[in-house]
Amino acid sequence: ATGRRPLMAGNWKMNLNHLEAIALVQKLAFSLNEQQLTDVEVVVLPPFVDIRSVQTLTDGDKLLIGYGAQDVSQHKSGAYTGEISGAMLAKLGCQYVVVGHSERRQYHNEDDALVNAKVKAALANGIAPILCVGEGLAVREAGEHVGYTLAQLDAALEKIKTDEVEKIVVAYEPVWAIGTGKVATPQDAQEVIGAIRTRLAEKYTGGTADRIRILYGGSVKHDNVASIIEQPDIDGALVGGASIDAEGFVRICRLGK
Ligand code: PEP
Repeated sequence: ATGRRPLMAGNWKMNLNHLEAIALVQKLAFSLNEQQLTDVEVVVLPPFVDIRSVQTLTDGDKLLIGYGAQDVSQHKSGAYTGEISGAMLAKLGCQYVVVGHSERRQYHNEDDALVNAKVKAALANGIAPILCVGEGLAVREAGEHVGYTLAQLDAALEKIKTDEVEKIVVAYEPVWAIGTGKVATPQDAQEVIGAIRTRLAEKYTGGTADRIRILYGGSVKHDNVASIIEQPDIDGALVGGASIDAEGFVRICRLGK
């Protein structure tokens, strides 16, 4: 990860109410010192209803922990009951938003065109999308994981220009490794993430691809994070289950120590 600041992002999914959110962020802040939070960027991605509490805590106490949301509407505003706009997230100080997570693709029928629209909605509001891509088990077993993942990447980045793409974080999350305890080997993760960087270098000029952070996600824990982050193209992790356990996530943010 030469020259790129590692990023550890905790996707809480649909867990923790706003009081539990405050307790977890406080524990993280007390357990990680300033140097650790400078060396590694630590970000939490709580449910929408927790974001205001996390904002108050991080702003008020000047905690060096970033935060964002797990989804954003592709629409600007209007009659879209239940949706949350990029402008609303920006107003709450969100720096990041997850886009294209496999759970949203699977349970909410989000397709590549919608993912692309959400990437644009985030960028239009100054929020960095954490763009998730990755294949399911059948695709992996057919040996088509690289092509499949790059096609998702191409579709999500359609009409995104060089100056905008630098803000994006890509997360390679093989669906068969999410929440299953089946972590991809560091070599498997590097193979696809290396291919993602190569594709970005083909699409964007001026060394852009070397500045974009690419994370691995899928059953990352404190005892496997070190071997993953050692890989040359892997710049951090998107962590689900292990991110709502304060002690475990702190150890992940210390890169396994
Ligand atoms: C995720 O949901 O982004 C994820 C990687 O989940 P887990 O770490 O639980 O596999």
